[in-house]
Parts: sequence; C-alpha cells; structure tokens
Amino acid sequence: MFDKCEKCGGDIEYRQTDSVQGWFCKNCDWSIVATCVPELDEDTYCIYVLGVNYMDSKHISAISRACGKNYLALSRLLQQEKPKVLEGDASQILKAKSILESAGLNPIIC
Ligand SMILES: [Zn+2]
Repeated sequence: MFDKCEKCGGDIEYRQTDSVQGWFCKNCDWSIVATCVPELDEDTYCIYVLGVNYMDSKHISAISRACGKNYLALSRLLQQEKPKVLEGDASQILKAKSILESAGLNPIIC
C-alpha cells in the first residue's frame, strides 16, 4: 500500500497495537493510522425495573448490585412507581440489565 514515507522518504512499517493500527515511518513522526477500537456509543440510557418483589432478597440484592446503591437508598427508590435503577452509558446499562435479568427481573431500557 505504501512503501516510502511521504514526508522524509524513509522506510515505513505496519504496526498494530491493541487500539491503533497503521503505517508508521521508521525515521520521523509521519504515520497513517486507523484506530481499530469500535466506535463507542456515547448516548445516555436509563434502565428501569418492573416486577420487583420487595420481599425477595434476590431481587433487592440484584438491584443493589446493578445500581451500586445500598439498601437504604434502594428502599426509597423502590417506592417509585417505575424505579429508575441506573442512568449511564450503553456498557453500564447492559451490565445492569444482565444482573437484573439473572435475578428474574424485568428491566426496561429507554
Ligand atoms: Zn518519515
């Protein structure tokens, strides 16, 4: 694809790391790089939970883990008609969702 540096005419080489791949000049700072990290979804989502049985410690502990709040904060949260467990980015929300689902809860993401 390339064999010489456009800037100094030196040799170039292909390098790949965890997050970057591309062509780099061995001689100067010239490079053509393409990141290979997938574009992160930066939108913020909310996750709500329905079907909570307040007497079920499995439910309560799953919600506590999903939102990182203690039981006291949770008892206030769960008085709401549609408790919002967490607001965060896609990866936080997906993690919370899997915790909630594994406890048999019914998470809703919006
Ligand atoms: Zn160069």
